Amino acid sequence: MCSGRVDLEFVLRAFSNGMDGVFIGGCRLNECNYITHGNYHALNMVLLCRKIMEHIGLNPERLRIEFMSSAEGILFAEVMSEFGNKVNKLGPLGKAEGIDQNELKSKLAEITKLVPYIKLVKKEKLASRLENPEEHNKLFTKDEVDRLFSEVISYYIDPEKCQACMTCAKRCPVEAIVGGKNLIHVIDQEKCIKCGTCFEVCPPKFRAVTEIAGAPVPPPIPEEKRTIVRKSKEK
Ligand code: SF4
Ligand code: SF4
Repeated sequence: MCSGRVDLEFVLRAFSNGMDGVFIGGCRLNECNYITHGNYHALNMVLLCRKIMEHIGLNPERLRIEFMSSAEGILFAEVMSEFGNKVNKLGPLGKAEGIDQNELKSKLAEITKLVPYIKLVKKEKLASRLENPEEHNKLFTKDEVDRLFSEVISYYIDPEKCQACMTCAKRCPVEAIVGGKNLIHVIDQEKCIKCGTCFEVCPPKFRAVTEIAGAPVPPPIPEEKRTIVRKSKEK
């Protein structure tokens, strides 16, 4: 219904499924029927995605967004023909850029996994409303996107500090925290979408969750060592 509903993940999925080009059509800017102005969100997502494509070596011209009304059939036909020709000229995704297909698949999968994190870290810019087209290309820079991926934040529960209060496990939106009563909690890094909720909700008196930027996360504590023996029970 709305171009604002086109998530970054949808675009990455299309490329992962081998599409050579992705076109997003939205209503004219400033003519949105809703206060949300979703077409600006779509525009910002495309501007970010194009920089991400550059980051992984893909030609950003494979992704295009245009705004037009449903009465502009001729314009739509012209834009689609032009885009279709452009994509044909660019050739098959990845091959034309000299990227190995398996490498491309794994890069796209890695970035797709980070989509919730990317949206969280860039939420202010993604919600901005750029009235001046000259500002479009400046919204996200190549350096900024390179940094985004080199400094990805991971979350880690310090086994020395965790008191098994279970707050983080209850609040994790993707059930990525393994734990239980009197068990030191552990984050399953494969499932974690890096939303930061566990970091925010771990009680200040424990401060067991730490942020690790751009570095490997320590291995999880072995299962047999996760039981917390409370002092009162030791006596
Ligand atoms: S960062 Fe978010 S997804 Fe990851 S473990 Fe913490 S609450 Fe769960
Ligand atoms: S909220 Fe903190 S103390 Fe409580 S289980 Fe999670 S990491 Fe451990």
